[in-house]
Amino acid sequence: MDNDGSLKVPYIKGNIERCMCSECPVQADSKCAQDKLERSKKIMANMSGDDVPDPKEVPGVYCSTGKARCSDLKPDEKCICNTCDVWKEYDLKNSTPSMYFCQNGQAKE
Ligand code: SF4
Ligand code: SF4
Repeated sequence: MDNDGSLKVPYIKGNIERCMCSECPVQADSKCAQDKLERSKKIMANMSGDDVPDPKEVPGVYCSTGKARCSDLKPDEKCICNTCDVWKEYDLKNSTPSMYFCQNGQAKE
């Protein structure tokens, strides 16, 4: 994860929970992403307070953590980031990149 101070979206529990990537057609058929989703849900259910899982285990919040680690996504499908409250809160339509963070990397100012 790039932590050089240009991180626009913080990697925090509230953003992981609001992320819509788990419902996105780009990764709906990805066994890698679906397995991570199941695992990360269990990990988070057993965590206390504001603890967060290792970003490598979370198939989402790519606007914060950067490109997907899974290689079986379908980028020709439609990104649904613009339906996400994180996207709205951090005004990501004006960031670079502004969508498909799983392919294009994290949002920057
Ligand atoms: S903007 Fe996209 S990558 Fe970022 S939290 Fe929302 S759905 Fe996930
Ligand atoms: S960043 Fe966009 S395209 Fe990628 S999984 Fe999330 S919602 Fe889908």
